[in-house]
Amino acid sequence: MKEVILIRFGEIFLKGKNYMFFENTLFKNIQRRLRGVNLKLTRTEGRFIVENFNLDDKQQIISSIKNIFGVVSISVAREIESNINGIVDAIKNIKINNQTFKVEVKRADKKFPVKSPELERKLGGIILDNNKTSKVDVHNPQKVVFVEIRQNKKTYVYYDKIECLGGMPVGTAGEGMLLLSGGIDSPVAGFMMAKRGLKISAIHFHSYPYTSEQAKQKVITLANIIKNYTGDIRLYIVPFTKIQEEIHKNCDDEFMVTIVRRFMMEIADKVAKSNNCNSLITGENLGQVASQTVEGITSTNKMAQNLVVFRPLIAFDKVEIARIAEKIGTYETSILPYEDCCSVFLPKRPSTHPSLDKVKKNEEHLNREFLINDAINNIEILDIKL
Ligand code: ATP
Ligand code: MG
Repeated sequence: MKEVILIRFGEIFLKGKNYMFFENTLFKNIQRRLRGVNLKLTRTEGRFIVENFNLDDKQQIISSIKNIFGVVSISVAREIESNINGIVDAIKNIKINNQTFKVEVKRADKKFPVKSPELERKLGGIILDNNKTSKVDVHNPQKVVFVEIRQNKKTYVYYDKIECLGGMPVGTAGEGMLLLSGGIDSPVAGFMMAKRGLKISAIHFHSYPYTSEQAKQKVITLANIIKNYTGDIRLYIVPFTKIQEEIHKNCDDEFMVTIVRRFMMEIADKVAKSNNCNSLITGENLGQVASQTVEGITSTNKMAQNLVVFRPLIAFDKVEIARIAEKIGTYETSILPYEDCCSVFLPKRPSTHPSLDKVKKNEEHLNREFLINDAINNIEILDIKL
């Protein structure tokens, strides 16, 4: 009798002619995540199975698979040959103390000689005999013992389904460029779009020495945390000091924040486009801060001339975002007190409803093209790998 891990990816993308593309991508993502661990990953009808692993590695394998988008649930199961004696032996080992239970048999192999309801009664009887304190409850059991008789002549017995993240396999929707600050929101935004199948690249604007080396390190740490969900991330670090100094010198205080944002968006859009990304992702959220009014977002949005901008957090409350950040493990890092470049030269009264005409007039004092090209030419690239 051997232990295996069953991986279910549900039926969310079972439809359509692209099905194999989704399944293949998920298979490769799992393979890559488990690289370096001794095991065998195989496919059967609508499932993947991890087998031949060392029992010491089991928890690590489970934790890794739980973070992979596209996986709906997993179970640790006993695998046996599909024959009645083998199944009975496996069921004899089941321990159920003081709990109600039911047995649920799925007979995918219609050649197996005993029908599901009959087998359920027989196996339920055996469990009752061996567990005097247990009781059958077919409507609302505390434990369900699953017995799956599959077409590959193998039977799987298990009772726990570990719910996973669901979503779509990373890479099936192309690649998005995440504007990653050191804050709470943007790592969550990246997590959410990766869940819909986007592979993630990230871009960070850094204003050394106004912002510290630690602020940059914090962003690298955040990328290292979200890579556990998104897979490998290429991180583009853009030197932003000169641009911010020029804006500070030449533009009205009240429009500085808006103009800074417009530069970020324009650079992100250009870098993303030339690196085969199909979209931009921000952690913007309506009304959260002065620059995130409808007018603020509109004026920033104009600078994304090539790509669509996804803002998955636009309608979330801060507490809801923080809760996700805690769940995915970014919160503790995000709240470390290192300044983001947005807080450099912060004006006393930023305009909350910046008029686009006035913003553009202000920008005329700047040599935008030179500043943008100079920043792009000096980008530092880091590959954040699993
Ligand atoms: P976050 O918590 O993600 O920092 P925030 O609430 O602080 O968000 P803002 O500072 O207004 O909001 O930033 C809005 C969005 O702009 C961020 O979510 C991020 O996508 C992007 N952004 C802000 N600063 C930077 C930066 N230094 N580098 C890259 N992107 C940034
Ligand atoms: Mg921020």
